[in-house]
Amino acid sequence: MSDTAIPGPVLVVLLGAAGSGKSTVAADWPPGSVLELSALRELICDDAVDPGATEEAVYTLGTILEGRLARRLTTVVDADASTDPATRAKFLELAERYEVPAAAFVMTTPLNVCLERNAIRPPQRRVPEDVLREQYAQAIDATPNLRAEGFDHVEALYGGG
Ligand code: ATP
Ligand code: MG
Repeated sequence: MSDTAIPGPVLVVLLGAAGSGKSTVAADWPPGSVLELSALRELICDDAVDPGATEEAVYTLGTILEGRLARRLTTVVDADASTDPATRAKFLELAERYEVPAAAFVMTTPLNVCLERNAIRPPQRRVPEDVLREQYAQAIDATPNLRAEGFDHVEALYGGG
């Protein structure tokens, strides 16, 4: 179980490759407080895993996130794109602007588990393997620097079962 007991308001950024268990962790929070990037991709282009819709989905997510943080509402960002440093910086900048503390929850689920889960997903939920490997590598690279980036709280979560 993740630490939903962090006193709010807080921005929680889930960090992990596709299949690492982010949405499973996010389910610990009320659904209305979770912003899921793949759901926004699907709204934009009918394809939850289309990388071509990521930029627009991140933009949309950022707009909703800003509205929530301005109202000091605890928000969980469930986005595979959070492994991208520039995307993460955008989320952090919003938290800083509205003086909401930010927490990074890093999924430590092994790469082979993520790959196996991805491989057995229906095609419309499966990300290209090279994309998943890149997300995993980015999450590993990011982990030691998350405090320095500006996260007030960093927690590791194992989502491998
Ligand atoms: P995506 O980025 O593609 O949305 P995700 O990081 O949200 O992936 P989930 O959908 O939460 O990953 O999990 C992937 C699969 O792994 C699901 O079938 C889920 O049931 C399973 N799973 C997640 N966490 C655990 C866990 N702690 N133990 C066992 N199975 C898990
Ligand atoms: Mg998910």
